[in-house]
Amino acid sequence: MRWQTGRRSTNVEDRRRMGGRGVAGLGGGALIVVALIMVLTGTDPTELLEQVDLSGEMVGQSASPGEFTAAEQELADFSSVVLADTEDTWRMLFEQMGGTYQEPRLVLYSGSVQSACGFAQSAMGPFYCPSDQTVYLDLSFFEDLRSRFRAPGDFAQAYVIAHEVGHHVQYLLGIMDEVDEARRGASTEDANEITVRLELQADFLAGVWAHHAQRARQILEEGDVEEALNAASQIGDDRIQMESQGYVVPDAFTHGTAAQRARWFLRGYRTGDISQGDTFNARSL
Ligand SMILES: [Zn+2]
Repeated sequence: MRWQTGRRSTNVEDRRRMGGRGVAGLGGGALIVVALIMVLTGTDPTELLEQVDLSGEMVGQSASPGEFTAAEQELADFSSVVLADTEDTWRMLFEQMGGTYQEPRLVLYSGSVQSACGFAQSAMGPFYCPSDQTVYLDLSFFEDLRSRFRAPGDFAQAYVIAHEVGHHVQYLLGIMDEVDEARRGASTEDANEITVRLELQADFLAGVWAHHAQRARQILEEGDVEEALNAASQIGDDRIQMESQGYVVPDAFTHGTAAQRARWFLRGYRTGDISQGDTFNARSL
């Protein structure tokens, strides 16, 4: 990806090197208790965590660039450029729809982080929290992507960020709310099916971003689209389950299969047309 000369976003908050500090403040034992209560009682973690203030120490602190290796700093820089490009692209697309794009924030963290959706650890992977309209990303995930998921390349990383921004677009369009509503009272099987469709649409929206970013700024280099498609496939639920359990359980899918994820990204990339991405009413995924 040609990114070095791209605009940097002003919506990145760097909380690396701060990870774990809030945890230490509370005491590791207390956190384990919180996690245990959540498991035992089936409590919504966000409700519980709202009662436990982990964020106090983090406010007003910011890591200084000097603390990072050149490689770490480059990854942060790269993420900022990708985010900025999604801002420019979605601002344009929302204007075309007669709306206004509200930019999400991107929090870089290491280890663990407190979000408005609860306490998160990097093992959970990157995520979007609608309550604070923020994407949370531990940059070490990119190393996992390269080695564990065998999806190397900078555009594989850009796809991951664009997918999370896709969730933000879904939030702004009211799709997240509709999905929450539909999931309520649904069987586990049906709820998973709805989640898969939500995830595939985020892949589609990542493809739509790539289409318009390429058209406006020629960001793609040879092999970039393949990198994104490979990443979409490698982090498909069937691959992940096969690797971790040795078998696949379709009802437990929450992101879609390898083929589905690659197909929807490609559809967004080829058409660049948001109206082609109604995964909720698509007969076949
Ligand atoms: Zn997702």
